[in-house]
Amino acid sequence: MAARTVRLLKLKCPQCGRESALQVREDSLAAASTSPTGLVGIADYHGDHVLVVYVDGEGRDRGVRVFRALQRGEVIRVNPAYLTYMNVIAGFRVSFGGWSLECFPGSPRTLLRVTRGEPLLEMELRNLERAASSVEWGDSFLAALSRVGQPDPGELLLSILLLDSSIQFPPSPFATRMFEVSLKSRRLVVKVDSGAAELLREYAPRIPWLSTRLVDYAVSVKGWRLVDAVLGPDPLTIRERLLTILSLERRGVVGFEEVGA
Ligand SMILES: [Zn+2]
Repeated sequence: MAARTVRLLKLKCPQCGRESALQVREDSLAAASTSPTGLVGIADYHGDHVLVVYVDGEGRDRGVRVFRALQRGEVIRVNPAYLTYMNVIAGFRVSFGGWSLECFPGSPRTLLRVTRGEPLLEMELRNLERAASSVEWGDSFLAALSRVGQPDPGELLLSILLLDSSIQFPPSPFATRMFEVSLKSRRLVVKVDSGAAELLREYAPRIPWLSTRLVDYAVSVKGWRLVDAVLGPDPLTIRERLLTILSLERRGVVGFEEVGA
């Protein structure tokens, strides 16, 4: 059952200037009324950042924010249009440390639950044949979330895109590391050891998984924030870029420096 839209908030994003139209639905107002803060955040994904508008139980605009670490008592609802980027996940909710972030096109029917003590991931899947793989990747996602603790909505949504694009692949021993860096992707700057990169570039034609193109890509994003370095036209490209950077990290060519958000 689709929830009725009661208000349409139109506003200009203070970060990128994009005009955004955010639907406030009946179920969001109910969520605001029962949340500890009396507010619900309605979010729109803008690639490297997220626009969040807070509304109260009456649907009144109570403030706009871009980039914000999720706080206890915070309920963020993402515009369902975000789901069009995804292949397997048809709706989701992540809750941890008293906050929750969710995106559903209507009232979810069957939810797959993955939990690790406190962090909880609930997913509605388009294809139940992917359930086992979704649980495995979802578990790595939660392991990373437990370590990182407090991501901002943009880092969290980027990580959900990675989760969705990973489900079609077999589980990987590097999954938790991948989510760990994506959940901090706005706070990490890519460092490249130029000497090591030059050496690797020379050997690249002889290494099966490597190409000079990949080494050149890593060198080209030197000094960038990780989120800007990996953003691409679709989730598979984002995943490929992040995995390239991580494989070079394991070989000592790339490192990360943590900076303030
Ligand atoms: Zn924006």
